[in-house]
Amino acid sequence: MLRTEKVRLYPNTTMKKVLDALCDYRRYCWNHGLALWNDMYDESLIMDNKKLRPNAYKVRNELVANKADWQYGLSARCLQLTIADLGKAWQNFFDKSQPDWGKPHFRSKRAPRQGFKTDRAKIVNGKLRLDKPRGIKGNYDLPFKGAQSIEGELKVVSVYRENGKYWASLPFEVQKSSKPQTGQSTAVDVNVGHFNYTAGEVNTLPKRLRKLYQRIKYYQRVLARKRKVNGKLANRSKNYVQTKAKLQRDYRRVTNLQNDILQKFTTNLVDNYDTIVIEDLAVKQMQMSHVASKGLQRSLFGKFRQILTYKTEWYGKQLVLADQHYPSTQRCAKCGHVKTGKDKITLQGNANHHTKHNEYICYQCGYHNDRDQNAVLNLLALVQ
Ligand SMILES: [Zn+2]
Repeated sequence: MLRTEKVRLYPNTTMKKVLDALCDYRRYCWNHGLALWNDMYDESLIMDNKKLRPNAYKVRNELVANKADWQYGLSARCLQLTIADLGKAWQNFFDKSQPDWGKPHFRSKRAPRQGFKTDRAKIVNGKLRLDKPRGIKGNYDLPFKGAQSIEGELKVVSVYRENGKYWASLPFEVQKSSKPQTGQSTAVDVNVGHFNYTAGEVNTLPKRLRKLYQRIKYYQRVLARKRKVNGKLANRSKNYVQTKAKLQRDYRRVTNLQNDILQKFTTNLVDNYDTIVIEDLAVKQMQMSHVASKGLQRSLFGKFRQILTYKTEWYGKQLVLADQHYPSTQRCAKCGHVKTGKDKITLQGNANHHTKHNEYICYQCGYHNDRDQNAVLNLLALVQ
């Protein structure tokens, strides 16, 4: 299986130029490949001939055949990998179940993140070595920091630049490891601001994160106003650029904080339990339309599932997903009675029976519990 390490690269001035040139080259290949792809696709529609439909192979051959002299100085693999990715992006476009469904779009050189990929990278003496760039003498290995382990075979490496800093994600093919079996099961009920599980509650919205959400909201509003007043020229104002940098900085901080909370919690889960039940998070995400900073909260749910999925697989534990129609909130954990109709418990509680939003009272057996803990027990019942 793959284990990915994200590392910060420390290139010297010469290597920065090399990396920048490769970022530019990938964008060039992507945009030209996409333009060609669009043209071929339109042609196939006009001629009503499926044989004219473009594919990665055709587009790549066309681009290679029309290479300009300057392109021979740059990595040929860069072009190949870019067109392969473009092909995948087109395939996703025809599959509506993909999360970021849509037509592939052109890349802008103004985008804050620029990058390229290489399958020729190696690690030599603790440094990252790319293809030997042409015309560069001396040391071209890139020092990096932040990897926990560099064991295993290195796969396709992505290098990218963001706010003047350089990063790489290094996927290693490694053997599975395992954690000792504990014979215990647990369930996690995901809520805005806190996750509940059998051993208690985890706060996912500490004060610092709450403040960052507010700040992001504020900066977004400021930027939107500037765009409204200045239109397309907004990008040129120093103030705009500065505010945008602040916004990106806060986004980064949010990502780090969320990651920290989730890594600790998921490690705790795979350390102590063999089987972990979670609900279908897509449904929870829908219910959150009323919540502030919902985009950021949603991304937290998504990340939680993503991290837990790979960690359980990684350590030989079992992750159980509850069916999206399973009534984890409405069911009584003691007698199994499911509330329906006017008895249903809502985010405001139940007006008919005067119950509060955070309590579960069973009208059949009189069982009384915290609403979220009741949901945890219901999820757990799926594996017991
Ligand atoms: Zn009951």
